[in-house]
Amino acid sequence: SVIVLGSISIDLTATTPHLPAPGETVLGRTLTTGTGGKGHNQAVAAARAAGGDTAVEFIGTVGTDGYTDTLVGALERAGVGTTFLRQVEGPCGTALIWLDDTAENSIVVVPAANALFGDLAAADLDAIAGAGILVGQLEVPMELMVAGATHAAAHGVPVLLNPSPVQELPAELVAALTVLVVNEGEAAALGPAVLDAVPHLVTTLGGRGARYRGPDGGVVTVPAPRVTPVDTTGAGDTFAGALAAAWTAGREPADAVAWACVAGALATTLPGAGDCAPLRAQIDELAAR
Ligand code: ADP
Repeated sequence: SVIVLGSISIDLTATTPHLPAPGETVLGRTLTTGTGGKGHNQAVAAARAAGGDTAVEFIGTVGTDGYTDTLVGALERAGVGTTFLRQVEGPCGTALIWLDDTAENSIVVVPAANALFGDLAAADLDAIAGAGILVGQLEVPMELMVAGATHAAAHGVPVLLNPSPVQELPAELVAALTVLVVNEGEAAALGPAVLDAVPHLVTTLGGRGARYRGPDGGVVTVPAPRVTPVDTTGAGDTFAGALAAAWTAGREPADAVAWACVAGALATTLPGAGDCAPLRAQIDELAAR
């Protein structure tokens, strides 16, 4: 199975002619409610990419406000298991997004429930120890990610980390990693000491595809298929989720990276971040072209 340990949030996007200045009120044009959070996005992407071959479970936290059912429903519809989902009193994680006519945005992210998971329970730890791969990002407390990753590594379970939003990584987290998936900005921020310490390094290059560096130091560059992007948000999360699914399926790393590139490219052809991941059949079809 793929276990994703991470965030789940509601994305509220208002479009407006221009972004409000401090103290200003502007009339918005449209309001959309999307499901997001990098953990949710990667879990949905992994489940769609796995196409039922591998179970995908999500470990994270929702709140008790009016968005709880929307978030849980999004996971369930994608086929992501919610056995380990926790609920804490208060709001769900929320991103408040303003988007203007020039596609400029301002975003406030309130972690809310995502900050309140607490400690992994015995059932969570058992699930991680028995997983095919653990997938994490950094929108939940660092201690939680360190605890999950070190437990996985101690049981021989591969750990895939997408270190976003990028921040300094504790040495024990780096030591627990099997696969690090970074974009070019994250790679620059982490620096060579961290990148070189990880057995499998995957650097995504946007429309140029991705680069894979394996444990033997060999580097393979994989182009992305040519698509017509409408919204590149969510491409990185889709890439990470698809890569995790391919990794547990036992694909060779460079081949898994190529397949994830196809998934990431397809994600750019749909709007939004949380519901843009392609199905396995769609990835296979474009990969075969
Ligand atoms: P992030 O969204 O984390 O910054 P990237 O922009 O590197 O990540 O995109 C992740 C992956 O999505 C890329 O490796 C590629 O496979 C795919 N992708 C992103 N942008 C494009 C694009 N314009 N055309 C085709 N594929 C893309």
